[in-house]
Amino acid sequence: MHDHRRLGRELDLFDTDPLAGAGLPYWLPDGAVVRHTLEEYVRDLERRAGYRHVYSPVLGKRELYEISGHWAHYSDDMFPPMDLGGEQVVLRPSLCPHHALIYRSRPHSYRELPLRIAELGGMYRSELSGVLGGLTRVRAIQLNDAHVFCTLDQAVEEAEAALRMIGEAHAALGIRPARHRLSLPGPGGKYVADPDLWRRASAMLREVLDRAGIAYEAVEGEAAFYGPKFDVQIADPAGRETTLSTVQIDLHQPERFDLRYTGPDGARHRPVMVHRSVIGSLERAVAHLLEVHAGAFPAWLAPVQIVVLPVSDTESEDAARLVERCLERGLRARSATSEEGTLGARVRAARLVPYQAVIGAREAAVDHVSLRLRDGRRLEAQPAEGVLHRVGGLVARRSVGLWDA
Ligand SMILES: [Zn+2]
Repeated sequence: MHDHRRLGRELDLFDTDPLAGAGLPYWLPDGAVVRHTLEEYVRDLERRAGYRHVYSPVLGKRELYEISGHWAHYSDDMFPPMDLGGEQVVLRPSLCPHHALIYRSRPHSYRELPLRIAELGGMYRSELSGVLGGLTRVRAIQLNDAHVFCTLDQAVEEAEAALRMIGEAHAALGIRPARHRLSLPGPGGKYVADPDLWRRASAMLREVLDRAGIAYEAVEGEAAFYGPKFDVQIADPAGRETTLSTVQIDLHQPERFDLRYTGPDGARHRPVMVHRSVIGSLERAVAHLLEVHAGAFPAWLAPVQIVVLPVSDTESEDAARLVERCLERGLRARSATSEEGTLGARVRAARLVPYQAVIGAREAAVDHVSLRLRDGRRLEAQPAEGVLHRVGGLVARRSVGLWDA
């Protein structure tokens, strides 16, 4: 495994500046492409699973986090409040309170449940030891988050569906979990005190994991302050574990926000909140993908998918035209001309690009390209149009294979 900080610098994906501060990286154009493509992948996955997306602000009044319980149980990790015209506003430590407000803003019938709300939104953590140059210890976090509001009966099924989604995404992205963890409360005042709610939520989560046949370790002291959670753990090159994906069953926040729905009996009932994240924070997900793939992202995620290499200056214009045709098809392409060195040097410099299309005099004459794949395969010269069509199809399907779907 490789260090994502070194790769991120080498590949011009992200950087930091002491003037912006530790733990506050910015994304360079190639890194922004990877992040954007990953975001679109997750949104697409969520849309197909019946989630609807919202936007909510990255800060809120202190009272909001007092109601949610963050202020009492989580304030050590929060930024200090800002005084604003007699009020205090806080950079949010999580998206849950805003989604509870969104749910509460309209009356709901049991017919609307399960109601699935998703957001790729910002949240903040007052990390004191932000490691400069990295994406894993950051103070500004872009989180892939969602909350399912549902009946008690539906909660197990919704949590199971979330588990399947996580598995599907990990397979598509090449993510290999280090282990699965059932995170339970430990001693101390970090957790809300309601033994009955904890017992019920933990029993439901265990049922979900047992039914899914997932082997897990139960660990005390790692729960969210409001409920138990199932965590998919990943490891960095040094073996340090962090949580990437998570599913939580929460009986606490629906009470705190007095969430309701009207049941078939006409009476008002309390929904359950299932919190889930498929790929966690975009920062951590990209760091992990970089390390897992050593910078050689699957073609659909790669910042540059095709590099066009004219053998000599004579084919420079043909190369420029081919790049344009790639861009028109939605493929990310650039040319590397002889100004960037010998053909051999350009091939080596583009070693992480999935496809290298070489155009010599013979290829240019008949609109062909000789294709080199990142894995070392070299294909016969063939019509450029056919290559673009095939690569376009593989990318659209988010294929892991470079040439065979
Ligand atoms: Zn949440």
